[in-house]
Amino acid sequence: MTQKMLSEAEGYDILRKYDIPVPEYQIVKNGEDAAIAAEKMGCPVVMKIISPQIVHKSDAGGVMVGIGSRKAALGAFTKIIDNAKSYNTEAQIEGVMVEQQAEPGLELIIGGRTDPAFGKVITFGMGGTMVELMKDVTLRILPVTDDEIRQMVREINAYPLIAGYRGAKPRDEEGLVKIIGNVCRFFLENENIVEFDVNPLRLYESGACAVDARVIVSDSVHKVEAPERVPVPIEYFTPRSIAVIGASQDSSKMGYAVMHNLLHFPGQLYPVNNKRAEIQGLKAYPTITAIQAPVDMAVITVPAIHVPAVIEECGAKGVSLAVIITAGFKEMGPDGKALEERVVAIAKGHGMRIIGPNCLGLIVPPRGIDTTYVHQSPKPGNIAFISQSGAIINTVVDWSLAKNIGFSNVISVGNQCDLDFLDYLRYVEKDPKTKAIIMYIEQITDGKAFMEVVSEVAKSKPVIAIKSGSSKKGQAASASHTGSLSGSYEVYMEAFRKSGVIAVHTLTGAFLAAQVLAHPKRYPKGKRAVVITNAGGFAVLSSDYAERYGIELIDLPADVLEELNDFLPEFWNKGNPIDLLGDATEKRFEKTFEVLAKHGDLWDMAFVIGFPNLVLTSEQMAKQILKFSERTENRLIATLLGGDSMNVGREMLKEHGIPSFDELDFTYRVMGRVLWQMFRVKAPGLL
Ligand code: ADP
Ligand code: MG
Repeated sequence: MTQKMLSEAEGYDILRKYDIPVPEYQIVKNGEDAAIAAEKMGCPVVMKIISPQIVHKSDAGGVMVGIGSRKAALGAFTKIIDNAKSYNTEAQIEGVMVEQQAEPGLELIIGGRTDPAFGKVITFGMGGTMVELMKDVTLRILPVTDDEIRQMVREINAYPLIAGYRGAKPRDEEGLVKIIGNVCRFFLENENIVEFDVNPLRLYESGACAVDARVIVSDSVHKVEAPERVPVPIEYFTPRSIAVIGASQDSSKMGYAVMHNLLHFPGQLYPVNNKRAEIQGLKAYPTITAIQAPVDMAVITVPAIHVPAVIEECGAKGVSLAVIITAGFKEMGPDGKALEERVVAIAKGHGMRIIGPNCLGLIVPPRGIDTTYVHQSPKPGNIAFISQSGAIINTVVDWSLAKNIGFSNVISVGNQCDLDFLDYLRYVEKDPKTKAIIMYIEQITDGKAFMEVVSEVAKSKPVIAIKSGSSKKGQAASASHTGSLSGSYEVYMEAFRKSGVIAVHTLTGAFLAAQVLAHPKRYPKGKRAVVITNAGGFAVLSSDYAERYGIELIDLPADVLEELNDFLPEFWNKGNPIDLLGDATEKRFEKTFEVLAKHGDLWDMAFVIGFPNLVLTSEQMAKQILKFSERTENRLIATLLGGDSMNVGREMLKEHGIPSFDELDFTYRVMGRVLWQMFRVKAPGLL
């Protein structure tokens, strides 16, 4: 695949075809022609170097603006050529462009690039020569609707400059929306265009003009080949019988640990080992075919080189799902890849499906299934965790035991030679025990298919994702502004947001979000919130956090204030956050909650914050929160701050699916991330 940059003139010509306004231009080869062109066009003009090797022309002293006369044009020609030659002695110089000078305007950038996973992406933001410094851009995965384009325009920090800042007249926002729409069309309709930027586009009170165009074309169009997908029946994940091939009696072997973790499996368990008659107290079989009864699932821990033969036997036995724990496949290079392909082909011939290889396999705590070698199985619960890293599974499982978090499923995807993220998402979507889904993602191959599936899953169950690889290190340097402004991580974030996935940055954050969203009420309806607390300090902090994470604290209307005045102490703060004061009793909370429940149409979520004190136990507080939750359709988020003295209340809430937070800031961050997904609120708080 070779890529080539079109000249600015070629770029202008294509843009013009799509009704994107560009200046008139002429290409000249000598000073005399430059002078004639300038005169014909009408001064002032701009002159620019034309050289395939000079990508950023200004950096090379290759752009001169405000050329006001024939004579100046003559001089500029020599100057530009000299500058370019001394900037890059190797540069081929094809001439100089003389173009009409556009009026000054607001300089914007519209760019596009092709993401390896998600395809064509469009960016928009503040342009000019300082784009990388300002980094005020936003992006969308194509195709986009006009409404999404409008949203994009309004979402950059500099939007006030478009809308009319400090008495300045508003600029042509609708014209801009049309131009961006045309640019999207230009990008989508020309398959060979893989990357471009129009920088700057000058926006006026009426109309606009693109005064630079960098367009990169490729001679071969990269297309993500979507493999044909055969859905996996959900019963494959609920086997009645499991064979462990490579089961061992030697505690230093993986086959020992896997067998050990499966001893709790209530169905039939068959160790397969051709050297021993008994393994860990169970009768062992020399091969899987020697087992008389049917076998639904095979867990394979034998060395990679033996895996094809074992898979052949599993197929012959009628196994429906093989979990290949063994490493040494695609991840090891071409030979490993060939071995993996062989395994896939054999399995396919038998209609057998594969998890892995190079993975930990599957843990289904409610069914006593654990094919991994983690040192202790996690507890049953309602969170499904799907991970592209085995080590992270080990860590999370260990940590979940201390935090008393349970799982419906833990899946290690490994090399995904057959079953992949999409199959696992489909499975946990249907699994009745799963109430929230967390994914740890390193890379996705078919981004479009991923978006399609995850969007559907997210409609019925909350999906939270951590994507690794946000650092710029290791990312390929890019020829265009767009390439360096919108890296692959940003595209993933946009893909998540668009598909209804809550993006987080930490494991702790992922589990906090999952615990909150596993509640039957799931998401709040909107971003309007009330805060009720007996702690003045936390009332003030609540206002800070809410503002920071995009949560809207409503003003309480007069009639609600009136109702609260009836029973609250005279000097209560008469605002939201509602500070019930340190001496607030259970009764005071109860009455306040009653009033708020009655006016549930005014708000979408309530943050209730308690702290340890002598007039109100955590148990009493929890009791009232639960009653409040029953009385309203809206979401409640409880935060019982303090140490162990609050544990009784926390446990009560947790039993009813209302998780508490140790740190008030986290409470607001979680909801901020949820609102980011729902409404794209500016929520700079990472979770
Ligand atoms: P570079 O390769 O450095 O991005 P540009 O073609 O974008 O070069 O020119 C640099 C700057 O010169 C632009 O950002 C713009 O401010 C100004 N400029 C370029 N062309 C014109 C023009 N036709 N009319 C007015 N200003 C222009
Ligand atoms: Mg430019």
